[in-house]
Amino acid sequence: MGKAKKGSLIIVGAGAAGLIAASELAGKFQVTVLEASDTTGGRIRTIDGMEAGAEFVHGELPLTMELAKKAGATLEKTGGHFYQVSDCDWRRQDDIIEGWDLLLQKMEALKDDITLDAFLETNFAGGEYEELRRRTRAYASGFDVADPVKASVKALYREWSQGMDEMYRIKEGYAAITDHLQQQCEAAGCRILTNKKVKQADWEQDRVKVYTDDGETFEAQKLILTLPAGIMQRKLASHSINITPPLDSYDTAWEQIGYGSVLKILLKFKEAFWAEQQEEVGFVISDQPIPTWWTQLPYDEPLLTGWIGGPYALQWDNKTDEEILEHAVTSLSRIFRRTVTDITALLESHQILRWHTIETALGAYSYETPLSAEARALLMTPVAGTLYFAGEALYNGPHPGTVEAALYSGKEVAERIIGDLAD
Ligand SMILES: Cc1cc2nc3c(=O)[nH]c(=O)nc-3n(C[C@H](O)[C@H](O)[C@H](O)COP(=O)(O)OP(=O)(O)OC[C@H]3O[C@@H](n4cnc5c(N)ncnc54)[C@H](O)[C@@H]3O)c2cc1C
Repeated sequence: MGKAKKGSLIIVGAGAAGLIAASELAGKFQVTVLEASDTTGGRIRTIDGMEAGAEFVHGELPLTMELAKKAGATLEKTGGHFYQVSDCDWRRQDDIIEGWDLLLQKMEALKDDITLDAFLETNFAGGEYEELRRRTRAYASGFDVADPVKASVKALYREWSQGMDEMYRIKEGYAAITDHLQQQCEAAGCRILTNKKVKQADWEQDRVKVYTDDGETFEAQKLILTLPAGIMQRKLASHSINITPPLDSYDTAWEQIGYGSVLKILLKFKEAFWAEQQEEVGFVISDQPIPTWWTQLPYDEPLLTGWIGGPYALQWDNKTDEEILEHAVTSLSRIFRRTVTDITALLESHQILRWHTIETALGAYSYETPLSAEARALLMTPVAGTLYFAGEALYNGPHPGTVEAALYSGKEVAERIIGDLAD
């Protein structure tokens, strides 16, 4: 390997973490971002005004709000009510799970962290708790995309006991934030190269050589890897990177991070037919095969989003998109008491996203396991002041929302490198 130019940096991945890191470092150092896809944004993917990936801002999150403001984007609170629909019976629901208070009390009292499944089997074993167990597992899977067999009770307690903050949407789309960061980076002289899938990274102290699958090589003094945890966990995945010399303890640490998927269904209609059924429909959780749906309130878009999170998302892998669409329409026809023919006639377009099959992501976002805090601490430690990891899975702060986590992590790594290069 030749001598690396001092202050040269390569960032792999142009999602939220990679772009914010690049924007902090551009102008100060020579920064090249290598992105496998043909666009930037990563798991932020706004297409024709619809959010195929991240959608909500989970409260007043400092970095997200600051960037949205700088991007000239507008945040609006989500509107509408939360409904539970079972056997065609609509109920406004504030508590998602009956017995929620008792559940939280027992979670709080837990001494040593265990998985959610183990906790439910120990603390809520009886037949009288069957529904509570089912709903708790469904909530952890649906909202946190967490597998109850692996998810940490202490982490879920920290999150659930905070209550639900007001949620916001970005009117111009989440991509307003990543587009803004990209512009900032490029204006400061950073190169962002798309269609550059990194296959190999060779490193020694203060030198890295990175190989992309089109045969190009790039050299720099330092390397930031912002790949999704799902890719870092799968050595044989099409987008995984062979790091030489290998980092065995880091590979083991990636295994301890929980990473879940989502099946997201976007259905665009000619009109918002649900407004006739019930006033102000915001979110619906039902007893249907595709249980969770939401509207775009406060915007009057005739769009319904279906969601299956966590291990349940994978159970649909043996179905074709057409079959999933059929289940979606049938679920909606039962929830809103309209015929399948009616709903089909109103349907204008659809998108079905199985995030675990999208090669650049292999899932949706991370969750905590009882072992992930220690693993994360190692992964956040730079290797020989040369290799740095960032991304939504490597956040240890107080705020919910994984885009915020990605932004925070990218910014933190950039600040660390600025410090390291100043020494
Ligand atoms: C369906 C869905 C819904 C979500 N909803 C929300 C939400 O409502 N609120 C929220 O806060 N978060 C949400 N998230 C999570 C949020 O989108 C992510 O946490 C965040 O965007 C991750 O940013 P990142 O930079 O860490 O990773 P990414 O955005 O995944 O960036 C990593 C980049 O690396 C690139 N890459 C991968 N392999 C290679 C390679 N070998 N070479 C070069 N480049 C490579 C990828 O293409 C990608 O661009 C959602 C995610 C999904 C999928």
